[in-house]
Amino acid sequence: MALFVTKFGGSSVATTDKIKNVCAKIMDIKGQGDNVVVVVSAMGDTTDDLIELAEKLGDINQHREMDMLLSTGEQQSAALLALCLIEMGCPAVSLNGWQAGIKTDGQHSKARIKDIDITRIKEGLEAGKVVVIAGFQGTSPAGDITTLGRGGSDTSAVALAAKLKAERCMIFTDVDGVYTADPRIVKEARKLSDISYEEMLEMASLGAAVLQPRAAEFAMLYNVDVEVRSSFNNNPGTIITEVAKMEKQRVVSGVAHDVNVARIALFDVPDNPGVASVIFKTLADKGINVDMVIQSAMRDNRNDIAFTIERKEFERARPVVNEIVMKLGASGMSYKTDVAKVSVVGAGMQTNPGVAGNMFDALAHKNINIHMISTSEIKISCVVDEDDIKTAVQALHEKFGLDQAE
Ligand code: ADP
Ligand code: ASP
Ligand code: MG
Repeated sequence: MALFVTKFGGSSVATTDKIKNVCAKIMDIKGQGDNVVVVVSAMGDTTDDLIELAEKLGDINQHREMDMLLSTGEQQSAALLALCLIEMGCPAVSLNGWQAGIKTDGQHSKARIKDIDITRIKEGLEAGKVVVIAGFQGTSPAGDITTLGRGGSDTSAVALAAKLKAERCMIFTDVDGVYTADPRIVKEARKLSDISYEEMLEMASLGAAVLQPRAAEFAMLYNVDVEVRSSFNNNPGTIITEVAKMEKQRVVSGVAHDVNVARIALFDVPDNPGVASVIFKTLADKGINVDMVIQSAMRDNRNDIAFTIERKEFERARPVVNEIVMKLGASGMSYKTDVAKVSVVGAGMQTNPGVAGNMFDALAHKNINIHMISTSEIKISCVVDEDDIKTAVQALHEKFGLDQAE
């Protein structure tokens, strides 16, 4: 008897009709007797609606209280799904994060799963039930409800699949799989039949919302076969797996983009040891993540240092950066919040020179100015004006022939 972990995202359970459709799918997967664990997101825009409600009454940076609030969305959909399954003749039980034994660290709003006590899940499965688990949540060592960051139900599902040693983790969503670019931006985007863990982790971290980056990380760490596929049809999806199991390697697998970016620059920072440490440690202590960093060539023993952060952190970062300017004796700071990051990702890049050149060439042809560049073995990212992002993604998709990808 096989065990499958399935996850259904918000758009897949947005209405009662869609929940019925999901339940029919679950019963299909369960077939004659396989075990099925279902992880579910909140219905439709519930999480956004709850955040909006909270904004009217208080500070949404009160993360403990926000976790208490946001976790209710997934609890609702888990119970509704279980009710619907039972009504359709399929025994089921719903569990919230605590009941499902999901233990996290104490970082409210971006907690990490540390372990899962699967006792109750096993009990449910042994009783022949489909076990429906509220995604995106767990409990901290202090016994408080935590959430795993936006899109966190993906991570709940992959972590459960790893712990339960499931045959496969199936992520059901509103697209047929992982595409060469966001299909909402590039209409020629193609569904990939497979993608490596490393490429998926890069794509997800660089803005491809189809999977939470932590989910890709878990899958890679524990070697979980993940399939991303549609809730609304039976088309085969995309398999996320080891490079060794892939049919063929591509030089470039996809283009990702992220508009949640802001750029900050510090001018005339004295060129002393420890300066970068002051800047980035101070930001880290405030929980502000820095992504790309550039230090310009030195003149008169002073440097300009520019970096990017998440745009939604900008208002919090601004006073911190102003303090750093004073502390270091820099001459000032500038910022730009209407920038975005475009990246090309591909495992074959390491052995194929010329990808960077082709990328800059494609952007230059469209007259797109590049503000910052960063590279790793399997990705190249550029920061450009937000107004240019759609053109940039489309130009790169075309340049690398991704409309022919499989
Ligand atoms: P869910 O609610 O099922 O978790 P999400 O909205 O979080 O769904 O993720 C699915 C969305 O991810 C798609 O609708 C698509 O617009 C977006 N997306 C971004 N990049 C990609 C990509 N490379 N392939 C597929 N989808 C992508
Ligand atoms: N409901 C949460 C969100 O909207 C978690 C998820 O959907 O995975 O981010
Ligand atoms: Mg999602």
